[in-house]
Amino acid sequence: MLHRLRLLAFAALAVCASGAFAATPNDVPPLGKLPRWAVPQGYTLDFRVDPRQTTYAGTATITVDLKQPADHLWLHGRDLDVSKATIADSAGESHAAQYRAVAEKEGVAEVGFGRVLKPGRYTLTIAFSAPFNAQLQGLYKVSHEGVPYAVTQMEPISARYAFPGFDEPSFKTPFKLSVSVPQGQTAVANTLPVKQQKQADGWTRYEFAPTQPLPTYLVAFAAGPWDVVKGPDIPATKWRGHATPLYGVAAQGEGKRLARALEQTPAIVTALEDYFGYAYPFDKVALVAAPDFSAGAMENPGLVTFRDWLLLLDPQSPAYYVRASFNVSAHELAHQWFGDTVTMPWWNDIWLNEAFATWMQGKITQQLRPQYRADLDRVEGAEYAMDNDSLVSARRIRQPIGNNGDIETAFDGITYQKGAAVLGMFERYLGADVFQRGIRAYVREHAFANATADDLVAALAKASGKGERFERAMKSFLDQSGVPLVETRLDCDHGEPALRLKQSRYLPLGSTGETDRLWSVPVCVRYGDGAGARTQCELLDRREGRMALAGAQCPVWYMPNADAAGYYRFSMPQADFARLTAAVGRLSDREQLAYADAVDASFRRGDLDASAALAAMRTLAPSKTRQVAVALLPTFEWIWRYEARDDAQRARLAEVARDLYLPRLQALGYERRAGEADDDALLRSALASFLGLEVKLPEVRAALLAQADRALRAKADGRLDLTAANPDLLGTALAVGAQERGKPAVDALLGELTRNSEAAQRNAMLGGVGAVTDPALATRVRDFALDPKVKVGEMAMLIRSSRDKGAGRESLWTWFTANYDAVVKRTGSFAGGELPSLFARGGCSQAEADRLQAFFQPRLDEVSGAARGLAQTREQIELCTALRAKQDPAAVLR
Ligand SMILES: [Zn+2]
Repeated sequence: MLHRLRLLAFAALAVCASGAFAATPNDVPPLGKLPRWAVPQGYTLDFRVDPRQTTYAGTATITVDLKQPADHLWLHGRDLDVSKATIADSAGESHAAQYRAVAEKEGVAEVGFGRVLKPGRYTLTIAFSAPFNAQLQGLYKVSHEGVPYAVTQMEPISARYAFPGFDEPSFKTPFKLSVSVPQGQTAVANTLPVKQQKQADGWTRYEFAPTQPLPTYLVAFAAGPWDVVKGPDIPATKWRGHATPLYGVAAQGEGKRLARALEQTPAIVTALEDYFGYAYPFDKVALVAAPDFSAGAMENPGLVTFRDWLLLLDPQSPAYYVRASFNVSAHELAHQWFGDTVTMPWWNDIWLNEAFATWMQGKITQQLRPQYRADLDRVEGAEYAMDNDSLVSARRIRQPIGNNGDIETAFDGITYQKGAAVLGMFERYLGADVFQRGIRAYVREHAFANATADDLVAALAKASGKGERFERAMKSFLDQSGVPLVETRLDCDHGEPALRLKQSRYLPLGSTGETDRLWSVPVCVRYGDGAGARTQCELLDRREGRMALAGAQCPVWYMPNADAAGYYRFSMPQADFARLTAAVGRLSDREQLAYADAVDASFRRGDLDASAALAAMRTLAPSKTRQVAVALLPTFEWIWRYEARDDAQRARLAEVARDLYLPRLQALGYERRAGEADDDALLRSALASFLGLEVKLPEVRAALLAQADRALRAKADGRLDLTAANPDLLGTALAVGAQERGKPAVDALLGELTRNSEAAQRNAMLGGVGAVTDPALATRVRDFALDPKVKVGEMAMLIRSSRDKGAGRESLWTWFTANYDAVVKRTGSFAGGELPSLFARGGCSQAEADRLQAFFQPRLDEVSGAARGLAQTREQIELCTALRAKQDPAAVLR
């Protein structure tokens, strides 16, 4: 998946699961893991779905092995209305059974047999109906152009809304699905249909081929009047002796816009096969453009679902969307091996899915689309993760799971980007070929079964011949949170040149954490004298170390994170840092990003003041590489938002931004140019947003307003002329338009939003209208977020864009506290972990931290995951407060 209770008596239940369990009347509902004495062997699921109705019907027939005498079993089911349950033994003798929901919120149910059954194989049949979910979970309903469709999203624990079952990833079994739909509609699922039968009532029943063994969270199907488009076949390869059919699925009328996404798919699949040395393991590939979706995309085997804008592309599509479409496809298709073929047994190892898919996505993108610079995405991703990982409240990559909230909040930057960065670091440490051998062995050994982090580390250790020291090193990053800080000091006074190394935990100013923490860090250093440069690596597994630098000369400069391949931060004495700064031009783009991260990290630690950070920004801004040129914009924005005390300081900062970036934006111009690199379009968007919306340079706003005025002009049919603006700038332009034109612009945009179903245009309008600053209009926009015409997955865009500015945050808080119940009712529990951040991020005072705590504390039980979201957002606000208090007001002006 791409990127987002109460505490349970979990420890006690784990004992039950270990087998010391007896089916007694005292048996308590398992709110954590289900016990292992009732094990599903296979499912037949028969659904009857008409998305125009409010409910659907189904029958689940589950083969279950009872491993001990029992008069009941536990399984999952949520919001299901069960009309009949039976249990039959292997001789076919059937008895009525009782289905009873016992923990509604967790979705745990009991099936009573009315008598004690012997150990053996049984067939459990449950007939049920259920409402279509309104919060994008289980089997949910969405509309496109007023026409309803039904789609599924099961991960992580929402299959229990769709059908009764053993909703845990360790229970992998084959599934036989059939879906009946009314006339004019079609059904798709994980596998190809094997039978399509017209029923007496005019409905059509689609029966699908049995799946490979899957966990419940990967079961997927969809029903409605979809366009199903055939893409190019994925040709046979040396791994797979046959061609594999490829399909695209989109809402009625949108199928033709799938062509570009389908065209890029075969190359991705075959590149993945070449890496794994293992054939694509399912019978087809289908890509579904879901009109509303909670995550970015979901890797269901054979039926990958995406937010529609990731698949529906045309010449008008923003450059960012085109690139994201490729990146996300590579991610989800990598999951067909990592996650779908080899599955983690429990959610503490979800990183095995997500870290791998993120890392693999970069590898495939770098190979097939080198111009996208996935190598830089990887460094940016690691740095994004490090910001989160410097919080005391950060999760570990392998975080123990205590409750359902821990499962639902496990899909964060630690799981994805930190996990990917750690994999990349150890890939470099072992060597890419050795690492690949280990991965291939791991996939072969655990295909269609479950595997843990220990299995992976063991496979890599075996392939590399590096034993326990490697295993310890890798686990030191998996099993503890935090970012290592490697302090370096050049020592040329004692014979051969050397680097003194010292490790601790990186913590920003104001943190209450302990710096005393030890990793086994693969440290690689690149250093140079007048002419060349060399690289040296060493595993730093003690507090302090000394790395001898080969070569007689004392290096002129050194970069403590060569290639930015290491997941660590560094700091060095001022004199060493000055020499590194002087040599920035000798660093690779990746290393320049690591240099920028060192500047930002030192600033946040209070070691570097604003003027020094701005000087570093001047050094990097001229880079031809977009990511490097804008690398320190977040540091600038912090200074701009929180440190500048008055108009004079802001004017001075605006001059800095103008000098560094306006000529560049003007050279790019505000319109697309025929044949321009998509990176130019991305830089134009980034600079226009920074200079137009953050720094508010009048000339940039004037140019954007001119585009907004064109786009806001109504055409003859009353619709807005949104294609009149540059699609890459549409959102930014509409934001300026909403801010400058006020009510007429807001009226026009809200009106258009109720009629427009083009995803990219909708996103631009949502972001634009959400940027409105007038308090009364901002309230109107937020109220509109609660309107059913806004999709659940779109709400955050209307709400969040004003939260970065002080006044906007105040009015947002007022609105949020008054409308909290309505927000939760629409978004549901899955978004719980994100609520504190959605409404309070950007806060920078103790008062804001306190009011957030006071508001959520009594509500933590109501929304799953909110406890972690609260702890992290509060900590971020407190760190910002501490950093702000430390700033010297004169530093901005120096
Ligand atoms: Zn994923």
